[in-house]
Amino acid sequence: MKNHCGVLPTCWPENRIVILYLPFFSFEAMPHKKTSSKSATQKSSDKKVTDSSSKLPKRATSVVPSDFLQSVREYWEQLDWGGLSEHFGNKTLQRGRNYAGGGNVQSLWVAEDGKNLLAVVVGTHDYKTRVTLEEGSRKNQFVPSSTCSCPVGSDCKHGVATIVRFLDFLANNKPIPLCRELEGDTWEIVTENEKTKTMKIDFDEYDDDDDDSWEDEEYERDDDDEPQVFVPKTFAKTNDLASDLEAKLNEKPSKELVAIILRLFNDYDAVREHFKQEAFAESVAKSGNIAKLVEKAIKLIDKAIDDVSYEYRRYGNGSALELNPVTEIIKQFDKFDDALAAVDRAARYLIKKGCRYADDTGAEDTSEIGLVFDAMAKTLIASKTPPVSIILWAYEVSHIDEYDFGGYALKTIIFEHNWPVKVWSGVADALLAKMCENVTENRDFETLRTIVETLDKANRQKEATDLLRTEAVHIREYEMLVDRLIEFGFLDEAEKIAWEQRQIALKQENRSNYYYRNDLWPDRLKKIAEKKKDWPMQASIEAAEFFKHPCDRTIPPLLQTAKKMKVEPAVRRSLEAFLQTGEFPVAVQKELEGTKPTTKDRQSWPIPFFAFVIDEKKQQPRFDVLCDWAIAEKRPKDVVRWFDELSGQKENVRKIDYEKVADAIIDTHPDRAFRLYRDLAEHEMEATRNYPSAVRLLRKARKALEALGRAADWPTLMAEIRATHRRKSSLMKQLDELNAGSIVNQKRRGK
Ligand SMILES: [Zn+2]
Repeated sequence: MKNHCGVLPTCWPENRIVILYLPFFSFEAMPHKKTSSKSATQKSSDKKVTDSSSKLPKRATSVVPSDFLQSVREYWEQLDWGGLSEHFGNKTLQRGRNYAGGGNVQSLWVAEDGKNLLAVVVGTHDYKTRVTLEEGSRKNQFVPSSTCSCPVGSDCKHGVATIVRFLDFLANNKPIPLCRELEGDTWEIVTENEKTKTMKIDFDEYDDDDDDSWEDEEYERDDDDEPQVFVPKTFAKTNDLASDLEAKLNEKPSKELVAIILRLFNDYDAVREHFKQEAFAESVAKSGNIAKLVEKAIKLIDKAIDDVSYEYRRYGNGSALELNPVTEIIKQFDKFDDALAAVDRAARYLIKKGCRYADDTGAEDTSEIGLVFDAMAKTLIASKTPPVSIILWAYEVSHIDEYDFGGYALKTIIFEHNWPVKVWSGVADALLAKMCENVTENRDFETLRTIVETLDKANRQKEATDLLRTEAVHIREYEMLVDRLIEFGFLDEAEKIAWEQRQIALKQENRSNYYYRNDLWPDRLKKIAEKKKDWPMQASIEAAEFFKHPCDRTIPPLLQTAKKMKVEPAVRRSLEAFLQTGEFPVAVQKELEGTKPTTKDRQSWPIPFFAFVIDEKKQQPRFDVLCDWAIAEKRPKDVVRWFDELSGQKENVRKIDYEKVADAIIDTHPDRAFRLYRDLAEHEMEATRNYPSAVRLLRKARKALEALGRAADWPTLMAEIRATHRRKSSLMKQLDELNAGSIVNQKRRGK
């Protein structure tokens, strides 16, 4: 066992110095003190502790495992390796076992009920790990999970190691020091000399203040075969270096700084170029000739992009695009009256040239171009340009910026700028005037959307709605109008237009865009129905969705709406009948044929018939859907019934998740569940050779046997399986573990 005494755990809470003086307790030297599980004094002391954790009342310091909640203790005692591997995966399990065996679990605490474990596990670093038992889906069933301060973060090997070490204590009924959650992830723990302290668990911390780089082993996600992510030290720490440097430079006297800069100037071309540009820009700014500046910027754009484009065309890759000199020049524009014209010219040129760059390089990295737009936007705002002109310019540029080079900069710097309402109003007026210049045929959706957006920002919502009403007719664009009418509560109007448009879409059935357009309206109509609490209409649309795609996704919403209509039982019966026979309810069938359903027909299908779009052909029975539905609603009897029907249906047999079926019926039909698990396991051992999966299924088969009262048959079954598959050595090893019994019992036998 490693000796960790005197090692300062880097992940320890705030008060590190104090901890340094506390020798880590060794498990063997733990005081063997039995405590009653929940004494009255303890409960009353809870309040005081949260008030001031420094003054702690006298309380129990450790707990013997036999004092845990009965159900929790049973869970831990019966846990076997297969159970652990089911949750953590085989690889993580092996690593965790090795860790526990190597003595890496340095400190361990347990909550009084046995449902929470805390530990400090030593690996490349010291990690704080917490294991929690969550309630499972069945009574007294638990599922373990772990969180950890290591880079993996959850369900890692440190979690496994914690559990395994804990089971050592359990096997020997040795007392374990107590921990108690005070508030979200702050725990009170007991130290080896029976003092208490608080331990804050920050699960995102990993060791930022540690000098070592992370070891790649720690990085690996244990369960999958993804390649390791290797982060070189220099990359991970660049930001730290920059801030360190900044701090150091801030302390230096200016003379020393000048010397450093001059040295850099002499040694590096890039630095020299930077100062050259700056000097040039300043001199032009003084001379008052912005035209010269623009020409220079354009020349620089040309050269930078041409160079990189050439490399790409010639060699298939190239150096990074460098537009910093351009940015430096553009920053000077703000001092001039005609800044807008200058920025505009540079922007248009950059977009044109940028398209070439994107084509040549496959749009590898256009962020450098984005940075120039960043500078342009900021320069305009700093200049004397009227805000309305800036915004109009930004809209215009966005319009021609096909590759969206400037999208982010314009959005965050100009469109999201805190302009007064008056400014937006001015923009809206200008855009409206421009739109009216255009003949209706030339008006487009994008412009309309922009105008509506600016009118909204100008607090002219009503005008925007009216504009949509009139323009929708011109440009045949109703979706935006209907969405807006729904948003502003004009539900009847929205409904009327939506139905009209749906009818038009249905008539265009033979057109290729029919399916896309057709699908646009049901969702909107459903939204309208929901808002109007028009349950029949909502149910009608949901029914159409069900008939189109009968599955466990379309059933629940329809039933819920039927409940609101107080007709759920009838609808449920009709859905079941449809899934069994593939025949529509009589009322639907008659509507499809154009005849009127009778009152009796309506009673068994009380959902009105709107413009259903469904395949009128007779459908196939869907026992698979019935089976899924029964599983979801926890109706095991029906699961068995539909499963049997399904087994006779060749075309649907592959749609069944047999394990899910077995899980759903294990309590009521353990015999059927047992056979399913056994057959599935056999399939995994023989055909797919997925042994971990086979072992998982065999574990479930054993549970089913126990439920049947036939636990005694297990050894026979195992002997058979072993005989059949004796050549598969890896499977044999896993079967050994399956039969070795619980971890605690193995540990007890080992003693
Ligand atoms: Zn971990």
